[in-house]
Amino acid sequence: MAEIVFDRVTKRYDDGQLAVNALNLTIEDGEFLVLVGPSGCGKSTALRMIAGLEEISDGELKIDGTVANDLAPRDRNIAMVFQSYALYPHLTVAENIAFGLKVRGADQAEIDRKVAETAKLLELTDYLKRKPGKLSGGQRQRVAMGRALVRSPKAYLMDEPLSNLDARLRGQMRAEIARLQKMTGVTTVYVTHDQVEAMTMGDRVAVMNKGVLQQLAGPRTLYDAP
Ligand code: ADP
Ligand code: ADP
Repeated sequence: MAEIVFDRVTKRYDDGQLAVNALNLTIEDGEFLVLVGPSGCGKSTALRMIAGLEEISDGELKIDGTVANDLAPRDRNIAMVFQSYALYPHLTVAENIAFGLKVRGADQAEIDRKVAETAKLLELTDYLKRKPGKLSGGQRQRVAMGRALVRSPKAYLMDEPLSNLDARLRGQMRAEIARLQKMTGVTTVYVTHDQVEAMTMGDRVAVMNKGVLQQLAGPRTLYDAP
């Protein structure tokens, strides 16, 4: 579990684009924070800086009290789930879920145990031998989450993970992600431009606009306001 702090964090891309502008934001240990705002406001950039996929131009990003600006992604133990599932088509569901553990050299007994546990949590037990091509969109999304979950990360980062799903599946997965977050208690940052997701999923909602934090509140406070 992790506390993530943006302390006047700025990201200026090489072409001069100011994507995030002196952002101050504390994401508390164990909370589910939804980061919402119009396209281009800097949400993905902020998320990628937490993952270590984007260099920080100025300010400090702290993970559990330690400055993480220069920490390599693999040393952060933070899992990212994207909208494109990025599953390996030639591997089975079980192999896809196990992939990250295998790369880290976990032994087979541990891998089998963790994959079984994760599959149970995500209701994928009956599909472990299938390949992604034979799964529904919602099942694929669950496998992608399984790959993140199985590593027991400090934090989950999700960038519009449901945008490729139809409305019905999206509703179902929203509830599932919220349930999983509560069960595991892992700090989660969820990026979306969908107001319904912002209203229904998180403990708090951070509204970004043009690279700065515009508002930070509980979902009700934010949307019930006159
Ligand atoms: P959001 O996720 O809210 O849509 P992004 O973080 O993707 O916003 O983008 C914020 C701003 O930074 C936008 O103006 C976008 O065009 C710009 N941007 C994003 N990635 C890059 C990049 N690799 N190079 C230059 N500009 C970028
Ligand atoms: P999102 O809003 O979810 O970030 P985008 O379509 O804005 O999605 O961006 C998709 C990819 O294109 C990202 O990897 C982003 O870094 C890159 N990108 C966005 N804007 C620019 C830009 N102005 N110049 C270069 N790359 C960009």
